[in-house]
Amino acid sequence: IQQLKEHLRHPSVISSLADDINKLGRTIDQPLRIMEICGGHTHAIVKNGLDTLVTQVVRFVHGPGCPVCVLPQSRIDQALYLARENGTILVCLGDMMRVPGSEGETLQHCRAQGADVRFVYSPLETLDIARKNPGSSVVFFAIGFETTTPTTAALVQHTIDAKIPNIKFHINHVLVPPAIDALLHGNRQRPDAFIAPGHVSVITGWKPYELLSQKHHVPIAVAGFEPIDILEAIRELLICHIKKIDITLNSYHRVVSYKGNHRAQELVDRYFDIRSHFNWRGLGSIPASALQFREEYSHLDAETSIPHIPAQDTHPTCQCGAILMGQSHPWECPLFGNACTPAHPVGSCMVSNEGACAAYYRYRGVS
Ligand code: SF4
Repeated sequence: IQQLKEHLRHPSVISSLADDINKLGRTIDQPLRIMEICGGHTHAIVKNGLDTLVTQVVRFVHGPGCPVCVLPQSRIDQALYLARENGTILVCLGDMMRVPGSEGETLQHCRAQGADVRFVYSPLETLDIARKNPGSSVVFFAIGFETTTPTTAALVQHTIDAKIPNIKFHINHVLVPPAIDALLHGNRQRPDAFIAPGHVSVITGWKPYELLSQKHHVPIAVAGFEPIDILEAIRELLICHIKKIDITLNSYHRVVSYKGNHRAQELVDRYFDIRSHFNWRGLGSIPASALQFREEYSHLDAETSIPHIPAQDTHPTCQCGAILMGQSHPWECPLFGNACTPAHPVGSCMVSNEGACAAYYRYRGVS
């Protein structure tokens, strides 16, 4: 693995690929606008300065590929509501602790006020928490794209098989292809090409992107997260653009197949089906873009006990919505690096390890 990593980061290969891209770029009139959907790619691009190597040829725009970032404040408000319920232990992944709800409060604040909120590294730790606290109702606040949904499904399976009576779930699992579809519908600033997420594609396969390429006439490349993975994907997208070929390419052969991971897909399908609509931060309500419990497992759904919490506007100056739509960049937000920092985040894009604002703050600083 170490040898493979060294190869995929080798400076001479990186510079040769960048040269290829820059030569190809001489044949186009204006830079190619490439949206990298996944926050992991955003961090890899900014951390390794890949944008600076191909700056005359490519303009990167960042997409809605950070699961914490795309959750609207109304869902955070629901988490806060559940955490404040007497006798409840709210369990979530670490990043969720610091995302502000519509009143600016976070789960971290809620815990400081006495609520029992715990973060875990793996959802399966919830089983142990429930067993040790039989008198409490334990709610797992589940977030993530197709990558993490199988782990939540595994937790559901264990909960049922072990007959653990005190675990419920708040499901916020969202789907990438419908979000790309929504981004491409009637978007005057639509990107010229996409880098599709690598980890998500391990589960889904690259087949769903092929349908999007055909429908919207846009090239898409599935890529890994090393510098050479990303530069190879850019070169392929550029060739597609120049030759006017709208196809999906898999540049991440070593882990992504055409149809993905069947076992993981079956596990997810067993417990979840498609929600009619889900509200995404920045993108608004997108049909069929998230999961919910199948009817027969609805008794495990903690959301049914929450009164209606109206959707709230985000902070009036925060531009997370525009950033997640690829219409703005972190440094264009007036709060970036002054009122909003990783230590005191105003919006979700500064909280998460995959957020675009956090990436620029961490690797480029405030200029
Ligand atoms: Fe929102 Fe902060 Fe990013 Fe501005 S810098 S868009 S306030 S997260």
